[in-house]
Amino acid sequence: MKRYTAYSDFRRDLETGKVTCVQAVEHYLNQIESQQDLNAFLEVWADEARAKAAEQDALIQSGKAGRLAGMVIALKDNICYAGHNVSASSKILQGFESLYSATVTERLLAEGAIFIGRTNCDEFAMGASNENSAFGLVRNAIDKERVPGGSSGGSAVAVQGDMCLAALGSDTGGSIRQPAAFTGTVGYKPTYGTISRYGLLAYASSFDQIGPITRSVEDAALLTEVMAGMDEFDATMFQEPAPELKLETGKKYKIAYLKEAIERDGIHPELSAGMKNLIAELERQGHTLTPVEFPYLDYLVPCYYVLTTAEASSNLSRYQGLMYGYRSPDAVDLESTFKKSRSQGFGPEVQRRIMLGTFVLSEGYYDAYYTKGQKVRQFITDKTQDILANHDFILLPTTPDIAFKIGEKASNPVAMYLADIFTVQANITGMPAVSVPGAGTIEGMPWGVQVMADRKKDSELLSFAHELLEQNQNA
Ligand code: GLN
Repeated sequence: MKRYTAYSDFRRDLETGKVTCVQAVEHYLNQIESQQDLNAFLEVWADEARAKAAEQDALIQSGKAGRLAGMVIALKDNICYAGHNVSASSKILQGFESLYSATVTERLLAEGAIFIGRTNCDEFAMGASNENSAFGLVRNAIDKERVPGGSSGGSAVAVQGDMCLAALGSDTGGSIRQPAAFTGTVGYKPTYGTISRYGLLAYASSFDQIGPITRSVEDAALLTEVMAGMDEFDATMFQEPAPELKLETGKKYKIAYLKEAIERDGIHPELSAGMKNLIAELERQGHTLTPVEFPYLDYLVPCYYVLTTAEASSNLSRYQGLMYGYRSPDAVDLESTFKKSRSQGFGPEVQRRIMLGTFVLSEGYYDAYYTKGQKVRQFITDKTQDILANHDFILLPTTPDIAFKIGEKASNPVAMYLADIFTVQANITGMPAVSVPGAGTIEGMPWGVQVMADRKKDSELLSFAHELLEQNQNA
């Protein structure tokens, strides 16, 4: 089977009988099998996917197929699917089976999607390289000595390596967009509140958002339309029907770019050059590009890590060895059950963040860190909104560098955290952002261009990203 970039193309071939869902599933299963060394999947649901494919073929025949009939999708291992294991790539949830399905899982299934398996990720979505999984690291399919990015690294590699047509990820500070940039795929984090978080294993609830990793912006829009919209199980969502995500072409936009984000120390020089070329090209096409001041980049990462670790320390308190998940065999009483189960069940990065978060929430430090962090969050949101009051988008690189080498940052958490500098702004502010592959390659690797828009401007954002991607592919 050919490598499809968009579902609409596959669907056309399904309708005309050129391909079947059964063939598609076999193709992806073979692709998974032959690329096992990348460690993208933690579990493959082969038999179930085959059975679902046969069902979808029958629905296509009878003309009753849903919007996503036969679309083969991989689920990040932090999204629940009833009756299937989910572990957040953590030993603490090894062997745990979901009791219910996430809202997104149900909505996709109802439209005919086929889930092929669950993908490896950083433990509890904490990381930027996929080296923090309890079940082994994930390798980049283009250069196996390099990381795929994280935390949704398995999902990105599954799409990169044609092991599925699309995958779901979750993005708290860049976990969809950064691995998309490192693997040459499209990663989209919708406006906070667009997609239900019900059934997503929480990391930092006021930042977390589920989104797609795909090979086209068209598919990102399609999947989001199906997943989005009110859900009584998530009170933080917009209480209104989700808007249609129409991709309009040919519009001229007012685009701001951050000079500091392009010329800063530590940005790969070729990436900087790529951004400058892109800006010149967009100007030639009639868009208005304006450099804007945003002297707060250095505050983004500290603000993000103070607030997300605080939320994580609270969210992860439920894993204590009593109700579900790992219980230490060495425990003798209640306290040792808590202590030993958590010490043995959580990996080092998760423990580091729980401790950091507990510290910033502790009496005596609460105001100095947590309250201050909230104020900085509001300040950054206001300043970002000021820019977007006069511009349609902010254009910036997704990451300062291309995919780094395995092990390069693993022993230096601060260096790893700084890799998130351009992605966390969208989560701090709740704004939508998308990463599409930039033109050409750098040292043979893909790189990502990121576009951010004001809240609820997802349709405009994806319209522009769609054009940008086509243009970069033809450059
Ligand atoms: N790299 C960031 C972190 O480690 C982002 C993670 C995410 O978006 N889940 O927290």
